[in-house]
Amino acid sequence: MAKSDILSRSDLMELEIARYRKDNQPTKNEVDAIVNHHRAVLNVPRISWTRYWVCDSYNNLGIYCVYDDDTDRLHDSCLYCGHPEERK
Ligand SMILES: [Zn+2]
Repeated sequence: MAKSDILSRSDLMELEIARYRKDNQPTKNEVDAIVNHHRAVLNVPRISWTRYWVCDSYNNLGIYCVYDDDTDRLHDSCLYCGHPEERK
C-alpha cells in the first residue's frame, strides 16, 4: 500500500466530520481512504467501517466505529471502543 493511500489523521477527521454533518454518503474513494487509514493504524487486514455508531474512543481519530471483518464477523466489538454494532 502506497503511503499516499493512507489519510493523515487531520484529513481523516476532516473527512468524517464533513460527512457526518452533511449526513450524506461518502464516495467510494473516500470510504477506501478511511478504511485504509484504520487498517494502517490498527494493523488489521480487513475492517468494516460502518456509519451506524459514533465511536466513544479518543483513540479513534475518525468518528465511527470500526470492526475486524476476519475475527469479528458479527461486529460485536469495535476495535477502538469495544462496543457492538447493535446497541439495544
Ligand atoms: Zn467504537
